[in-house]
Amino acid sequence: MKPTHIEHIGIAVASLNDAIPFYEKVLGLECYAIEEVADQKVKTAFFKVGQTKIELLEPTSPDSTIAKFIEKNGGGMHHMAFAVEDVQTALNDAAAAGCQLIDKAPRGGAEGLRIGFLHPKSTCRVLTELCGKK
Ligand code: ZN
Repeated sequence: MKPTHIEHIGIAVASLNDAIPFYEKVLGLECYAIEEVADQKVKTAFFKVGQTKIELLEPTSPDSTIAKFIEKNGGGMHHMAFAVEDVQTALNDAAAAGCQLIDKAPRGGAEGLRIGFLHPKSTCRVLTELCGKK
């Protein structure tokens, strides 16, 4: 696998409405999309910084993994996503290199992208997402 760039950084927030003003008013970024990802029980808000995005994640259900993360850590940086050409191939490459996977096959993420997660045990404790068009 050879990621081309950091696709996005995921940040868990209790409320998009409370979090968005920091990114817009302090950092001067523009929220260009708000999207609910039912599969992951989150509502997301996106900002662009160069070719990298900031993805704010608000839980839409108490059993969302983001809700549990906020309960445990109070929110904050949740994951880092690398852009790859083909998510399934990248997951296979990671597994072949001895990396523990959360997803053996890609699933649907925000913005119509395919995503797959690597287990933090294998990634220096940073939840790592692989993200691509296929
Ligand atoms: Zn993500």
